[in-house]
Amino acid sequence: MRFIVTKEMGKLAKWLRILGYDSVYYDKSDTPGLIIRALREERILLTRSDGLTKYKGIKLVVIKHDHVEDQLDQTVEELGFQVEEKHVFTRCIECNAPLNGISKAKIEGKVPEYVLKTQEIFKICPECNKIFWKGTHWDMVKGWLEGRERGKG
Ligand SMILES: [Zn+2]
Repeated sequence: MRFIVTKEMGKLAKWLRILGYDSVYYDKSDTPGLIIRALREERILLTRSDGLTKYKGIKLVVIKHDHVEDQLDQTVEELGFQVEEKHVFTRCIECNAPLNGISKAKIEGKVPEYVLKTQEIFKICPECNKIFWKGTHWDMVKGWLEGRERGKG
């Protein structure tokens, strides 16, 4: 499942990446360019704009909510897929690139000391070299996933 997210929803694009989904954030106002890219790369278009429903042959969800958690809920519900915990934390939040594993020894001095002490698994983005671990974003995602579990009863 791959996405292209329009410019009103940069936060949603990042959250989808945190969840492990390939999500292009399209921050231009160029609608033909947006449509062509969605079609060419077979991406599901996530947008706030009703106007885009006139384009046929494109899979799209018109997002109705303002808060990113609600936007995610709507995306998951309308498309009917399950977020899998094993995919979380596999993609760079900033560049959308798949992350590579990196050993603790190689990142000494590159992350705060307490992080080194408290975390075991680290990943690195091959494009921006940013180092990731299950920190703040992870807690947010866990909160959201648990909320969904509770919702199911
Ligand atoms: Zn990156």
